[in-house]
Amino acid sequence: MKLYELTIHKLQEMLAGREISAVELTRSVLDRIEQTEPKVNAYLTLETDKALEQAEAADKKLTEKQAAPLCGIPFAIKDVMCTKGMRTTAGSKILESFVPPYDATVIEKLRAEGAVFVGKVSMDEFAMGSANENCAYGVPHNPWNFDHICGGSSGGSAASVAAGECIASLGSDTGGSIRQPGSHCGVVGLKPTYGRVSRFGLLAFASSLDQIGPLTKDVTDCAMMLNAICGYDPKDSTSVDRPVPDHRAALEEGLEGMTIGIPKEYFGAGLDPEVKKAVLNSITRLKEAGAETRDVSLPHTEYGVAAYYIIAPAEASSNLARYDGVRYGFRSQEGESLLEMYSKTRSQGFGDEVKRRIIIGTYALSSGYYDAYYKKASQARTLIVEDYKKVFAECDVLISPVAPSPAWRIGEKTHDPLSMYLMDALTIPANLAGIPAMSVPCGFSTDGLPIGVQMQASHFEEEKLLRVAGGLEKLLGIASAKPSMD
Ligand code: GLN
Repeated sequence: MKLYELTIHKLQEMLAGREISAVELTRSVLDRIEQTEPKVNAYLTLETDKALEQAEAADKKLTEKQAAPLCGIPFAIKDVMCTKGMRTTAGSKILESFVPPYDATVIEKLRAEGAVFVGKVSMDEFAMGSANENCAYGVPHNPWNFDHICGGSSGGSAASVAAGECIASLGSDTGGSIRQPGSHCGVVGLKPTYGRVSRFGLLAFASSLDQIGPLTKDVTDCAMMLNAICGYDPKDSTSVDRPVPDHRAALEEGLEGMTIGIPKEYFGAGLDPEVKKAVLNSITRLKEAGAETRDVSLPHTEYGVAAYYIIAPAEASSNLARYDGVRYGFRSQEGESLLEMYSKTRSQGFGDEVKRRIIIGTYALSSGYYDAYYKKASQARTLIVEDYKKVFAECDVLISPVAPSPAWRIGEKTHDPLSMYLMDALTIPANLAGIPAMSVPCGFSTDGLPIGVQMQASHFEEEKLLRVAGGLEKLLGIASAKPSMD
């Protein structure tokens, strides 16, 4: 096995035992990028020299003292988190030249562990999309089949992990953007509880829904990254001050005593039969291994998409007002007056999907329409929260598909935004309720495309998610499957 193919936990052992150096490991990842990136197109910014400098510094730490678990590990970061001195575009032309003067809290935390930042990876513009086709800098290709999408909006994160172009990555999830690309690229993705991980320095899309989380090669790596990034941050007013457990240690507890709920609304019309089969197989395997299962109902699931596509654009229309050509990035040179400069900057700087969301959101919030749209959507959101409360009173973890189908062909749904929005039906409810949810590889379609299974748990119960995910990973034994990339 090549170094770039290994997991964080394996590499940590090798680094700590000085079998390999962080510089060697970083070189292996950089060589891999050079080889495969022309086909994958996951990176928007690569910082080879800085990465090697960081690796050298990590090697020093590794020899001098007991190093933190992520010391010397090369990461790719979704281009929506501020990285001091490293360009951060949010996949948008409007931030083409934006270099943040500070680090997001998650980046600060990884830096403190001695992590190596290889670069910033592709995403749908401002995290709006489900295919990573809405990026101003081109579309990344699914490493399992280059003609297919990677999923979105953290497509570059998922693709770079699957392709071995980094060891692990950070993504963000507002309506499924970690889990869905994770599922399509055959990697593990976790959206933590709202408030578990600081959003400071994450360019905001929909502030009541956004959460940062890991995309990794296996469940142990996911637990290790979660340990590193979560915890209270006074710089994020929605961050929750609550003790942080050792998520990796939780994995040891296994499936013992877990009750798994199967929500019937997640297996309805429109679900691809191969996805259904793979998810049902996962449930059978968990049952055989001793987990108890129960059929449950989340009756308001069907309102999730409609509520989300009011709430998220409403918040986005307000969050994106700051990109006016004055303070950050791109400014149109064409306007004659200040107002014209604003308007031309935004017309030329934002892509179509972002404009669509700003228009929907502004409309939904405009006076006279608030009751009909935003208020109704918020009421639906409350009903979804209540649904979850009831089922989590009787089960620990819910199991379902992540996405209704495996990754589709690039371009297949580009001109049909509604069909794209419907692809989020199974991931959105967790964001509306703020609960943690993850995606774990569970099989392949007959065409060889990965399929993921989704797990959801009650607030702050990431440990339960990881226990079931870790258990399933062992039972299925597919965490080490790699795309051939021919
Ligand atoms: N696909 C969803 C959207 O386009 C979710 C995106 C996300 O989670 N960032 O809004």
